[in-house]
Amino acid sequence: MNAAVTKTNNRIKKSGVRQLLLVLLLLLIVGYGGQGSGQSTEPNLNDNMADLSSWDFEEDGLVQLHGQWHLYPGQLLTPETIYPAQEVKVPGQVYAFSIPGEMDPSTVGEFGMESQGAATLHLRVITDGQPRVYGLTFRYFASANDIWVNGEHLGGAGRVGLTKEGFTPHYLPQEVFFYDDTGQMDIVLHIANFHHRRIRFSEVNFGLASDIQQHVQGGVAWESILMGSLLIMAIYYAVLHYIQRRDPASLYLAAIALMSLFRVGITSQRVLIRLIPLISGEWTMKLGYIAAFINLPLLALYIREIVRVPALDTPARLSKGLVVVLSLFIIATPLRIYDGVFQYAQILILVFSVYLIYVVVRYGFMKKVRGTWAMGVGTGILLAAAANDMLREYTIINTPEMVSPATVVFIMIQALFLAWRYNDAYLNTVALARENQQMVERIKGMNLDLENKVEKRTEELKEANNKLRAISNTDGLTGASNRRYFDQQLQVEWKRALRQGNPLSVIMCDVDHFKDFNDHYGHPAGDQCLVNVVKVIRDQLNREGDLLARYGGEEFVVLLPNTPREGACRVAEGIRREMEALAIPHAYAATAPVVTLSLGVAGGQVSESMYPEKLVEKADKALYQAKNSGRNQVNCGS
Ligand code: GH3
Ligand code: MG
Ligand code: MG
Repeated sequence: MNAAVTKTNNRIKKSGVRQLLLVLLLLLIVGYGGQGSGQSTEPNLNDNMADLSSWDFEEDGLVQLHGQWHLYPGQLLTPETIYPAQEVKVPGQVYAFSIPGEMDPSTVGEFGMESQGAATLHLRVITDGQPRVYGLTFRYFASANDIWVNGEHLGGAGRVGLTKEGFTPHYLPQEVFFYDDTGQMDIVLHIANFHHRRIRFSEVNFGLASDIQQHVQGGVAWESILMGSLLIMAIYYAVLHYIQRRDPASLYLAAIALMSLFRVGITSQRVLIRLIPLISGEWTMKLGYIAAFINLPLLALYIREIVRVPALDTPARLSKGLVVVLSLFIIATPLRIYDGVFQYAQILILVFSVYLIYVVVRYGFMKKVRGTWAMGVGTGILLAAAANDMLREYTIINTPEMVSPATVVFIMIQALFLAWRYNDAYLNTVALARENQQMVERIKGMNLDLENKVEKRTEELKEANNKLRAISNTDGLTGASNRRYFDQQLQVEWKRALRQGNPLSVIMCDVDHFKDFNDHYGHPAGDQCLVNVVKVIRDQLNREGDLLARYGGEEFVVLLPNTPREGACRVAEGIRREMEALAIPHAYAATAPVVTLSLGVAGGQVSESMYPEKLVEKADKALYQAKNSGRNQVNCGS
């Protein structure tokens, strides 16, 4: 990766801190929102009597009817049977049951009944007797129920019955409203449970109808916001995964968001059940359990996608199996069984969660995975919230539900990771594209260079070839053409002359008494003399096509295309005269005291019946004549 990418990463790190601050601020708001959804205080409540005669409903708001209620196990008593008598005179035994509290198989002796069965609960409320419309709400009422106040049946959920057959569970939350100006209200509940392993009551709110309404609506609104956020995230990450396909991280996030959405929707204010009342109690529970229990393995899978360390391979494999096994187990077994199992599984989940945090922090920092701190904070928030909700579930503490808002925060933090991921991928692509471009430019340059080189070499080769050809056609001493080249050109010019109907002439030329010159002046002087002879002859040849060649020894031949014999004769005479005029001393020649030339000419119109060799032969003959006639002269032949 290049410098540009690293630089951008640093910029992201800085803005990451800013984003974390934003997230923490959001968390504060979320926490405040959760707190603000209407908590109420508790008055003293002794032995099924809540004395609220000094409670100012208009000022003090809601009251939690926490404390001891009367419990009639195994009986569904009509209100008339209970409260007309001031002294409790009812058949069977009466027990004190504390709300918040729960019944499970271990509490049989305490309440005279097992968790499965039916019972009547009774509480008397005393107020100042002012005429008011009151409201009553039960937050955790995981059972079928019927509610009476002052003998009037105000509501219920599911079907209450003394036997399993006469019972249908349902989990619609209950809010009831009623008018009172007597100052004494008897609240009678019928509850039945042949479904859940335990019965639990965690919150009973009582107060002005308007306060109860606000309390419920606030909760519904708050949970609707959470559900909406989770729904949007689930859709967003699912779409992202559909587009990205290769990245399972977004799929896990979508699943976590969806599971959390179900969880919020069916717990607390049970917004999902309010929306779709047809969902059965059985399936409400199953969905709730699946949503709660597969989120942790999903979380492990997700974290493993971000923090890729071998230590998480086994937990990830385990998690994949867990998602399937847990879901199937919950779907296949009745509530009594899976609830019983998961009661103990929670310890394992806690251990697993702590291990997850450990891995994230340890390996994240070790491998310098970017944003480890954010992942640590996110996971920490989520698990702290889970611990809060677990304790709350067992009515050990009475705090707002935190997992859902924490999940929203967690998933928001994850947007950071995905943004980093995609940004890195984008920067990589840009860097690669740039590198690619540079490579292309370099190759282009290299190609151009190569082309230039090839061109230059070709030029040099051509030149060398020309030189070589020239050398092979040239006489080394004088620089005139050699006999080989003359023979070749003779044929060419002969054919051309024949084609064009032009005359062609040849002059044969020989240095007089050159043997003597050599003998007396030495061979090197002879060589120099030959060079001078060539200069003299060349000076007399003015036409482009004229060719001078060394025929052998001190004999030269001149080929004159498009020249008649008379013209050639004049050229020959010019050569002879200029040679004599150059006056190279030759003290040992019989002809003259200077170097002279004898020349023989042949030429004229060429014809098919003649051979070019014949022309040379004739010139040679003329030369012989010139020698015989006394040298230093031209014989023009006939
Ligand atoms: P003539 O007037 O009848 O032509 O007499 P000549 O001596 O010129 O004729 P001959 O053919 O007997 O001699 C030619 C001499 O030219 C022989 C050799 O000494 C000389 N010769 C031939 N080629 C070269 C050469 O390349 N360099 C030198 N220095 N001398 C050469
Ligand atoms: Mg000779
Ligand atoms: Mg000679």
